[in-house]
Amino acid sequence: MSVDPRTPSQLQEAHRQLEEAARYAEVHDEVIEKLHHPKESKIVSIPVRMDDGSLRIFRGYRVRYNDALGPTKGGVRYDRDVNADEVSTLAFWMTIKCSAVHLPFGGAKGGIAVDPKRLSRTELERLSRSYVAAMGSFIGPDRDIPAPDLYTNATVMGWMADEYQKIRGENTPAVVTGKPVAAGGSLGRDDATARGGYYILKELEKIRGCDPAETKVAVQGFGNAGYHIARLLHDDGYQIVAVSDSQGGIHRASGLDPTSIHRVKEETRELRAVYCEGSVCRAQDHDDLTNEELLELDVDVLIPAARENQITESNASRIRASTIVELANGPTTRAADAILNDRGTLIIPDVLANAGGVTVSYFEWTQNRSGYYWTLDEVHERLRARLTTHFHEVRNRAERHDISLRQSAYAHAIRRIGEAIESRGTREYFASGLE
Ligand code: GLU
Repeated sequence: MSVDPRTPSQLQEAHRQLEEAARYAEVHDEVIEKLHHPKESKIVSIPVRMDDGSLRIFRGYRVRYNDALGPTKGGVRYDRDVNADEVSTLAFWMTIKCSAVHLPFGGAKGGIAVDPKRLSRTELERLSRSYVAAMGSFIGPDRDIPAPDLYTNATVMGWMADEYQKIRGENTPAVVTGKPVAAGGSLGRDDATARGGYYILKELEKIRGCDPAETKVAVQGFGNAGYHIARLLHDDGYQIVAVSDSQGGIHRASGLDPTSIHRVKEETRELRAVYCEGSVCRAQDHDDLTNEELLELDVDVLIPAARENQITESNASRIRASTIVELANGPTTRAADAILNDRGTLIIPDVLANAGGVTVSYFEWTQNRSGYYWTLDEVHERLRARLTTHFHEVRNRAERHDISLRQSAYAHAIRRIGEAIESRGTREYFASGLE
């Protein structure tokens, strides 16, 4: 929780977003009251035997925020700074996100306070398995379903699913999504977060009639979301002029090749401006820049794809992109959001822009439960249809009420959660029952 009582916690800030959007959702006050409180939270100590024989204890979190629409769903992140406030906020955002694209899920999130880069693979495996063991029956295919997030991937999800199934003594792959395909994962889950954002950008392109070849893009973050969106847009003719990772970024006015950069980063762990042909990679002229400088570049589309609170009150007025696609969760603070909205910047909010990941997680869960697996084309087509439908519904509501896409996406989501909560009875229903 926030240390200084005068500084609002992240969750309090998120609740202000909820209150601002609530008036356009036309739901009972009890719904908004319920959405102010996480349903249940679990904090565990995770003992791990390290490779050198020593014992270390890590702190693990899981928050099931709201389950009015179904079992709770959301990723698990491995990050030094993970804390209860952050995990609760992310679980709240998952609640909004799952509802915004009409998934039969509530929202959850988990995390372990650890610097994963300082652990060996075997230590990471023991940590991941112990997290599942410590969470016990808090998770489950009909209760709460973890998935990848910051610094977790398909291998980690495979360990988690395997551990759960060992403990239960049954085959239950639907307990975790984002698994390797060979362990029951879905085709197309790997680039789903980016692909969802890409499909929405393609709709925007149609509406605005813009030309990819004339569109300059900067991407902050070169993890799963950042790399894949850079690749998808580059392959579609967009100019990717800057990318970055946690160490810093590279800028090249005439464009970068994300696939070559990714290949070299996989081999050397370093982000370098390169172009590869066959097995030969050549360095390209470029400027180095910081993550802060990347955000302020003169580009058309800015894609924050790293972590929370990157665009704040202090840099919002220097952002020059006319469109921001939030592939990260919560990259824009509430104060920055207001500044950018006033300036007419179009923001595709995180709860829509990055909903592709959890959407294909839903497809994976469905496939696991039915035992019938889809082709990659089926996954892509269903993802495209779902995201574009809800993008247009959110856009229409925004136009009707003259509000931002974020407020509209929240209202769209709250409306549906509201119907589910109201269907179980409100004050009026129970009061009339007593007469
Ligand atoms: N961690 C991703 C997110 O923030 C995916 C969650 C999931 O697939 O459940 O949306």
